[in-house]
Amino acid sequence: MQMTLPMQLPDETLYSLLARIAISNGMSGIEIVRRLLGDPNALSSIGCKVDLHHFSIIMDGAYGGVSEIISALTILPIQRRLGEVEDSELALVGEGKRRLSLDALVFGRDRGLKWKICHECMKEDVATYGVAYWHRSHQITSTICCSKHGEYLRSFALPRRELHEQFLLPHNVTHKISPDAFVIQTDNLGIYAEFSLLAKEALNDTGLPASTMAIHRVFKTSLMELGFLARREDICKRSTFLRELGLNERAYNFLLDHVGVRSPRQFLYGIADNRPVLPFSRLMLVHWLFGSWKVFKQRCQWQDVLDQPGNGHGATTNEEQNSSRLDEVRHIHRQACLEYKSSCERPTRLGFTRTAQLSARWLLQNDRQWLDEEIPVLSHRNDQKKLFD
Ligand SMILES: [Zn+2]
Repeated sequence: MQMTLPMQLPDETLYSLLARIAISNGMSGIEIVRRLLGDPNALSSIGCKVDLHHFSIIMDGAYGGVSEIISALTILPIQRRLGEVEDSELALVGEGKRRLSLDALVFGRDRGLKWKICHECMKEDVATYGVAYWHRSHQITSTICCSKHGEYLRSFALPRRELHEQFLLPHNVTHKISPDAFVIQTDNLGIYAEFSLLAKEALNDTGLPASTMAIHRVFKTSLMELGFLARREDICKRSTFLRELGLNERAYNFLLDHVGVRSPRQFLYGIADNRPVLPFSRLMLVHWLFGSWKVFKQRCQWQDVLDQPGNGHGATTNEEQNSSRLDEVRHIHRQACLEYKSSCERPTRLGFTRTAQLSARWLLQNDRQWLDEEIPVLSHRNDQKKLFD
């Protein structure tokens, strides 16, 4: 099959590359997926089941081997680094034994897709490459503004019917976007820019990821240490959560809406239970708990080292490790409380909170009875508002 193969562009999605292959060769969407993606009975472009092994063979190395295709054109690498997918799953995808839908490879999910573009990127892409294309980093659900230009991305849904029939590029759809299709929140732009940069950093990370088990454990223990996770494995629901994160409610709700998180409990899907993870929701946790991708990554790498047999953890079960870790953390916070008590004549709950905010919050969430006995609440005043009902 003689085909014209366009050059793969920086930060391009697999969908976008396929759209340009279709245009270069005058092929319909269905023709592309049936011939190139190994789904001979496909009835939908966006929903077809992709055989990446087949695609890499048909392309004859034009876009690298299957692992290069996965790394550069899909969002699977970032999902792997967040512990959302296992190495074994990636291996099956690479061998063509597990076929994900095209939308899952681009957006991490197959429903409620929000397509996003940056007008500045579009202008630059046209000037540099002669075409505006879909950027991979823009499609991450927690990415609300462009990490390069700092501008809000235009976000919109596209009719499923059109997506079934053909591949669309940004210039096919921009006329459909009304100027008020996106709510502008200029006051929170700085917060959103941080999330965009974090996603880009995670996406471009080329280092060897830590094991999924280590990643899950790091999320869990960090939530526990900061007092956000009670023993019953539920995230705390008080306004302290929001205050500590330094986010205002509007920014927070806007981000949650984009990621599809309705309750903070959903951050623990796939970590505390076997429910399917909400793609990229853990990026929000990385930002809140570690502040940067580098710190999170280092924590995961250390956890991998600690988990090696012979490092004192290998012989114990996960439950035993978690329990002993909890005892250690409880001891540290109790000590902080006792030190505060011995340092002043009239210890109060407020004074303790001001002196050791982290410990006060942790004890309140996880060891309340002990705290009430050590520093009883004198006036019964509860001015905290519930963040989540
Ligand atoms: Zn841009």
